Amino acid sequence: MDRLKIAILGIVHQKGLDFLKNKNFEVFEINNFEAEYLKEKLEFVDGILLRTSKLNEDILKHCTKLKIISRHGVGYDNVDSDYLNKKKIALGITSKSNAVSVAEHVMAFFIYLTKNLSSSDHLVRQGNFKKKSELPDFFELYEKKVLIIGFGRIGKEVAKRCHGFDMKVYVYDPFLKNNLIESHNCIPIEKNEGLALADYITIHLPLNENTKDFISKSELNFMKKNAVIVNTSRGGIINELDLYQALDKKLIKSAGIDVFDTEPPDPSHLFFKLDNILLTPHNAALTLECRKRMSVEAAENIYYFLEDKNKLNSENLVNKDFLQD
Ligand code: NAD
Repeated sequence: MDRLKIAILGIVHQKGLDFLKNKNFEVFEINNFEAEYLKEKLEFVDGILLRTSKLNEDILKHCTKLKIISRHGVGYDNVDSDYLNKKKIALGITSKSNAVSVAEHVMAFFIYLTKNLSSSDHLVRQGNFKKKSELPDFFELYEKKVLIIGFGRIGKEVAKRCHGFDMKVYVYDPFLKNNLIESHNCIPIEKNEGLALADYITIHLPLNENTKDFISKSELNFMKKNAVIVNTSRGGIINELDLYQALDKKLIKSAGIDVFDTEPPDPSHLFFKLDNILLTPHNAALTLECRKRMSVEAAENIYYFLEDKNKLNSENLVNKDFLQD
């Protein structure tokens, strides 16, 4: 019998590849993401392990044997999920892998944007150790108010770490019951009320039609002058032009941004003009530990879905309701 064919789109940690190869699948890697190439190469694949390249209907309709796409990550805005639902093709995510890594990235942003780390380092290297009192004021996270927007896997991990710093943790997530939020020692709050009181704001939402421009001019106007905002979720959730203007006019203190409207951002991007923003290249979940976990979890999704459904983590199948007859 022909072996099932699995395409790996993008570079993943070897552990995931080894897992699939040991299961006797025919595994091949693709690093050319041009539509015509993908249409040809993906025609007979049974499964796709997908990093960040886009798979739209135009490409997917050429995949005549496809049964599962397993995302290396939890966001799936790079896949046409409506098409997959219509065709009853499974869509997997790696729900257990990346929350910790992203939550640590958020804390790194908070600390960097609070502690003058870069200017302190610069001062020491310049031989100006004794001029430390000339550095601008810097602050503590202790007892500051943090607003977590979106209290799913990542939001909850961020809350734990904020509690470790004795911060007061507020949560906006209208899809959850207040008592669930309270059971995590957090305070449920409405969006605008939370934006108005928070010293730190961190966003953990999926990108969809309801969350596009979730933070724009009017929301930025609610925030405190000392507010620090961090986005590790998806570009487009904060309106980039509005954020640029708020930072430029010092309406808020600073921002940490891991995700952009267009990735990579254009070299003339407005954010590059600012010195009160810290930018990272969508790598919040790319610690070595996390890359290993994601590659294995994404590979397991494929194997279990195709060969051993009882072992599949059903939390990882985002469109399970569409797969039934
Ligand atoms: P999740 O699905 O576990 O949680 C999302 C939460 O957002 C849910 O609790 C949901 O109720 C809430 N929510 C949805 N719409 C909302 C709205 N309009 N207002 C308020 N709350 C709303 O997702 P997660 O695993 O925590 O991941 C969050 C996002 O982070 C992902 O969608 C992904 O895009 C992004 N992400 C980025 C990276 C990175 O490398 N930067 C890594 C992992 C995930």
